[in-house]
Amino acid sequence: MENIFIAKPYFTGQIPSQCGHYHPDVIRIRNEKIGEVYIRVLDCVVCGEIEEQLDPNMLSEELVRELDLNGVSGTDENDLKERRKIELERILSDNDSRLD
Ligand SMILES: [Zn+2]
Repeated sequence: MENIFIAKPYFTGQIPSQCGHYHPDVIRIRNEKIGEVYIRVLDCVVCGEIEEQLDPNMLSEELVRELDLNGVSGTDENDLKERRKIELERILSDNDSRLD
């Protein structure tokens, strides 16, 4: 039988992603502009690839400009495993220092 992954926050008050899982289980792959719609593509360890629509008014001018120009902005999918590890260590060490 497979292990069932239980979604849990990594720190108190952490807000889950739209799929119900938490960063860095959910991590950004890239941002895209498809037609006139801005999209963030995320990777979840449980759900796989998920997309959420972005409000361009909430994005930095720099990112909007890059998406308008290139249609895509973001990091290499191959780095996901490493980025998850780094993010997790950062979150855990932040929480350690908060407890001191
Ligand atoms: Zn998920």
